[in-house]
Amino acid sequence: MSQINIRLKHCSYSIIVGSNLNRPLMSLFKKHLAGNRLFVFFDATVYALYGKNLEKQLISKKVNYSSFVIPSGETNKSQTTLVKLYDFLLDHKISRTDFILACGGGVTTDLVGYAAATVLRGIKWGVISTTLLGMVDAAIGGKTGINHKSGKNLIGAFWQPSFVICDLNHLQTLPQRELIAGLGEILKYVGLTGNKKDYHRVCDYLKSENLFDLPKLKPLVEAGVAYKARIVMADERESHPRLFLNFGHTFAHAIEKTLGYGKLLHGEAVIIGILAAVILSRKTRPASASKFTEYEKLVKTFLGLVRYYPISADMVLENMKIDKKRSGHIQKFVLLERPGKPFIAADLKESMIKDALKKCLVAYRKIAASHA
Ligand code: NAD
Ligand code: MG
Repeated sequence: MSQINIRLKHCSYSIIVGSNLNRPLMSLFKKHLAGNRLFVFFDATVYALYGKNLEKQLISKKVNYSSFVIPSGETNKSQTTLVKLYDFLLDHKISRTDFILACGGGVTTDLVGYAAATVLRGIKWGVISTTLLGMVDAAIGGKTGINHKSGKNLIGAFWQPSFVICDLNHLQTLPQRELIAGLGEILKYVGLTGNKKDYHRVCDYLKSENLFDLPKLKPLVEAGVAYKARIVMADERESHPRLFLNFGHTFAHAIEKTLGYGKLLHGEAVIIGILAAVILSRKTRPASASKFTEYEKLVKTFLGLVRYYPISADMVLENMKIDKKRSGHIQKFVLLERPGKPFIAADLKESMIKDALKKCLVAYRKIAASHA
């Protein structure tokens, strides 16, 4: 078991990574509940797999708890479901000293965290993150919120949890595509840090037939958690360093939009987006082109794990343009001087972006064909 601490101006908390974490969880409850009530919100799939076991533990420790099961899926990060959470909490007469627990992936932790941030103007909460993407990204940093018909994550609040538990055993039941989506964010961290040890760890991990090899996954999760924690500490409210987390994401968001949501998972689109960002980085920094060779090869190996959909470069480019009517201006990009040295690039030539994107999409098609 390892513990990574987040220290911020107004609070600090720990992220615990390991296997079979029931015991540390129960001692966290002892500390944070102090005899008050616990409201547990489960993702439905997670409840079916692990809910009864957790409830048994709570009963044996005489914790006064009530559970609520949230249907799975991004569509539940909505106002409609949020109101159901408020109704449940207020019907049970939640008081300011009670505690909320979110148990699930990023959808659950974003939604439940936002309910915790807003009900009675803020209730303490904790997280059991059950997806790889949740562990290395969504559960850390206190960004909570819901979607709106105008776009994703448009309503929300910063509300830090009191702890985050990442029990690797939960990953064993994760669908493989979800696991790969989480690996996409780890791949992003490897590019942003340029850490050789992590790079070799990821390469080694990919060589094994079994992507659910927990001992091999553990150091990658720890590295991912530690990196996200570092960024959050440096920049709680998302200005400069936290913007680097968007590496690969400008392309990824436009790819998701182009295909329509529900085709590629976000983390899968991030893997494609990272390749496009690497190619664009290499073009803007031709002198250090050779420094990208190893990382680019790794990104392409990941791409072999992503399901293939034909994607039109022109449409992706259109979807990347903000303020289309006035200037057709393209957003800023997070690029790399070389792996380990991110920078923000603005005012890049459209032709350069298009060229990088086209090269990326050709590689994606070829890699998919070679796996078929
Ligand atoms: P998710 O929560 O929808 O989980 C993915 C799927 O896995 C779901 O179907 C879920 O039921 C299932 N599942 C969860 N745990 C499981 C387990 N242990 N075994 C089997 N199945 C399991 O998706 P996600 O990828 O975890 O999170 C995506 C969400 O996170 C998005 O809404 C995104 O906006 C958000 N996000 C937030 C932040 C942030 O900083 N707050 C950062 C990144 C992403
Ligand atoms: Mg992301």
